[in-house]
Amino acid sequence: MSRPLTPTVPAQYADARAGRLPEPCEVREGLWSIPVPMPGARLPYSLAYALTDDGGGVHVVDPGTASDDGWDRLVAGIARLGRSVDDVASVTCTHMHPDHLGQATRLADASGAVVAVHRAEVAGMEALRSGRRGIVGSIDPAWGVPDEHRADLEAAHQVSGTAPWIDVDRELEDGDRLDIPGRRVEVVWTPGHTGGHVCLRESEEKVLLTGDHVLPVINPGLGLGGQTASNPLADYLASLDRVAVWDEDEVCPGHGYQFVGVAQRCAELAAHQRQRLDEVERALAAGVRTAWDVAGRLTWTGGWERLAGFRRASAIAQTAMMMQHVRGAQV
Ligand SMILES: [Zn+2]
Ligand SMILES: [Zn+2]
Repeated sequence: MSRPLTPTVPAQYADARAGRLPEPCEVREGLWSIPVPMPGARLPYSLAYALTDDGGGVHVVDPGTASDDGWDRLVAGIARLGRSVDDVASVTCTHMHPDHLGQATRLADASGAVVAVHRAEVAGMEALRSGRRGIVGSIDPAWGVPDEHRADLEAAHQVSGTAPWIDVDRELEDGDRLDIPGRRVEVVWTPGHTGGHVCLRESEEKVLLTGDHVLPVINPGLGLGGQTASNPLADYLASLDRVAVWDEDEVCPGHGYQFVGVAQRCAELAAHQRQRLDEVERALAAGVRTAWDVAGRLTWTGGWERLAGFRRASAIAQTAMMMQHVRGAQV
C-alpha cells in the first residue's frame, strides 16, 4: 500500500532553491547527509552521505562536485560526525556524473580511501574516456537532424565526450556488501540513468541511498552514461520495480531531501516515462519517422524550441531510445 510522501518539502529545500545551501543533517545515528554545492548547474546542490563504522572509520557516498567551497563543506560535514578526512576509509559513487564523483579523487588522495564503483560504470567511463562514445551516444544519421542544427549538436557531443575519470580500487557487483565494519550496506544495481548506476541499502536501518535513480522532485534523464547494449528505458522501469518494494525505507537521494514513500515515487516516475512513451507512440502512429521530428512533438520542460546544445542532444537521444522501446514492444 502506498502512502503519501513524507515529509512534505522541508523548509531547508525551499531555502536552497532561493540560493541558500541547507545544513548537513543526521538521518540516522552515524549517517549524515551533506549538501555540496553545484556551481553553475541547474540544481543547487547534491547530497553526499557519510557513514561511520564501528572502528573509527568514515565511509562517504557521492562526495559531490569538485570545488573549493564543496570541499570545505564536505570536510565540515565529516567533522559533524566527530571524524576527519584522515578517517575516510572508502568512497563509493552511485554513478559517473561529476556532481556525484567529482571530489572522489581528492578525497581518496587526502585519506588513502578505497574507491568503489559498479563494474558496468567503470566500463562506461572507459568507453567515454577513450572517445569511442559521447555521453548520449553518437549522432545517428537515422535521427534526421537537419543540416542547420548539425554543428550545434556535434559540438554538444564533443563536450559531452570529456567524461570524468577516477581510478577505481573496487569494482562492485549487484548484491555485494560494502566493506563497512558493523554495518550491512548492500549494492543494488539499478541501470537506467546510467548503465552502472547503483543504489545502496542498509536493510537493518531501513535506509536506501538512491543517487539519481529516485529523486523526490525531478525526473532523472536516462541513458546518460554512454550507450549500452540494453535499452536504458527498459532498464530504468525494471530498476524502479526493484527498489519500489522497500516502501518502509527512508529514501536518501542524490538531490533534494530525504523522504519515505518510495513505492509511490517510483510509480510517479514510471508514469512520467509511460506518458512520454504514449506521446511517442502517437507520433509514430501518425507517420512521423525520425527522432528529430518525434522529439519536436513531445512535451519538454521549457519547450522544445528552447532546448539547445547538450540538452537538445540528450532530448533527441532519449526520444530515439523511446522509439526503439515502442518499436521493440510492437514486434
Ligand atoms: Zn546523474
Ligand atoms: Zn546528480
